[in-house]
Amino acid sequence: ALPRSDDFLGHPKGVYVCFFTEMWERFSFYGMKALLLLYLTKHHLFGDRAGLDLLGAYGGLVYCMPVIGGLLADRWLGMRKAVTFGSLLLVLGHVGMAVEGHAATRVAGAVVRDEGALSVTYLSLALIIAGVGFMKPNISTIVGRLYAENDPRRDSGFSLFYAGINLGALFASLVCGFLGEAYGWKYGFGAAGIGMLLGLAMFLWGQKYLHGHAEPPAPATLRERVFGLPREWLIYGGAVLSVFPIAALMWAAANGVASIGGEISLALVLMLVVLGGVLLWFAWFTGARCTPAQRGQMWALLALIFMALVFFTLYEQTYGSWVTFTDRLLTKDIAPSLVIRDGTPLPWSIASLLLAPLGFAVAATMSDRHAASRAPRVLFVGVTALMLVFLVRDCIVLPQTAGSLTYLGALFLVLLAPLFAALWAWLDRRRADPSKPFKSALGLIFAGLSFVPLALAAQQVGATGAIASVWWLVLAYLVLEIGEMCLAPVGLSAVTQLAVPRVVSLMMGTWFLATAFSEALAALFGKLAAIDVPEDGQMDLVQASASYAHLFWLMMWIGLACGVIAMLCAPLLR
Ligand code: GLN
Repeated sequence: ALPRSDDFLGHPKGVYVCFFTEMWERFSFYGMKALLLLYLTKHHLFGDRAGLDLLGAYGGLVYCMPVIGGLLADRWLGMRKAVTFGSLLLVLGHVGMAVEGHAATRVAGAVVRDEGALSVTYLSLALIIAGVGFMKPNISTIVGRLYAENDPRRDSGFSLFYAGINLGALFASLVCGFLGEAYGWKYGFGAAGIGMLLGLAMFLWGQKYLHGHAEPPAPATLRERVFGLPREWLIYGGAVLSVFPIAALMWAAANGVASIGGEISLALVLMLVVLGGVLLWFAWFTGARCTPAQRGQMWALLALIFMALVFFTLYEQTYGSWVTFTDRLLTKDIAPSLVIRDGTPLPWSIASLLLAPLGFAVAATMSDRHAASRAPRVLFVGVTALMLVFLVRDCIVLPQTAGSLTYLGALFLVLLAPLFAALWAWLDRRRADPSKPFKSALGLIFAGLSFVPLALAAQQVGATGAIASVWWLVLAYLVLEIGEMCLAPVGLSAVTQLAVPRVVSLMMGTWFLATAFSEALAALFGKLAAIDVPEDGQMDLVQASASYAHLFWLMMWIGLACGVIAMLCAPLLR
């Protein structure tokens, strides 16, 4: 916990450092992800199945590595070093994605691909996987460390942090998703790389505001020599070397090599091994190393983590089946029905993208030196807010592509965040704040309901033979994000509160491990609506809509059923 004098706008300054660092990391992460499936299917002419297999293996491993990254940080590296190293790997990975090579062609019915460029893609994905492993769990635990254990601001701090995540995702879809599809894949991926570089710069500059809360637990063990090398360098070296086998796993997933029954990829096997290890450790740790009270908390946490697994299985459809569905079966332009285009949005958007965080950061540091005068701070926050208004306007005015429309999720989340913060506070004052398990169960129910508009849209396409309105997608995102607001920030905050302090990064990693399985499951389910686009590109709309409708109704039932069960169990967990 830090002295109050280190606060800015009611939260420790370090929280803002994490906010912007993670904002840029998520910018690169989601910008790349919005494009990935479209890039594979359109540029390298992957079939839907191969594309989803790769997406599932990548998404699975990317969220699996945080367990290892969290463990290494808890034991040796400390969070600050882990975040810095992870960010470096991420910059390299995202820049590598910009190497797109030649587009695939069809020669006498066979697809000829630029295998060299694809190898760079697999290697880049592997760098991102390793980078996220070091970075993501640890930047989140730093936020938790900046508050005292019973600091009432913790939940709202995590809501703020979660807004940063989604601000990044919002810009990402708009900038990378749009550039990639409208101007060229490499520009979209390249923009993601530049974003990550800004994130790294932000963290290097701002780490002083962490005031030693993210340092190695025992610095001497880092310098200790193992196999003739300092342990710290051994960790970095091992991570860099691990990139090659991970790249091989990516290649194997894309090519259906060494998979069990065509469905269980080697990457998934690796994830299951990690899961088995974590569960064994968990059983041992809670049995042998915890007081009874801690044990109860840890098991309650595990239950919340399981709910997150179900939630994100539904949620991850947004970067899989929702994107291809939008691309194929929905209109895309929101703008004409809302505002008249003035044709000059992009420069303002880019300016706000760069200036808005800068404004906040400058305002944050100024409170040190000009504690007496609030005017400059108010000015900076005002300018920043104005830039954000431009950005929101431009979200609506920009011509949309299927990839860039993924911004809707983040947009709703950012808009809903303050409303929910107020709602929880209001309920709390009336002593009616729902418990964390109850909120999570609500999240599942909303996630299930979000599939209803899409299923209806698919059925409409089936009935009319014409593509449906994009507004179905807007509605679906709105409902989904209400669910995310109920479950995700609450979960992150619970991890840092309920986990035994010594193992908090590891438990954060376990939280993300749940998403790893969500990603793999989402890809498996997504294949229910895999469509083999014929060579002339003319798809049978009626047939396609039937498979999407089937998938979407199934997802709805899963969400509702799990949500209701969770709701019944909530009083127990409480
Ligand atoms: N939107 C969240 C993030 O990127 C989701 C993380 C997760 O657990 N799946 O941080």
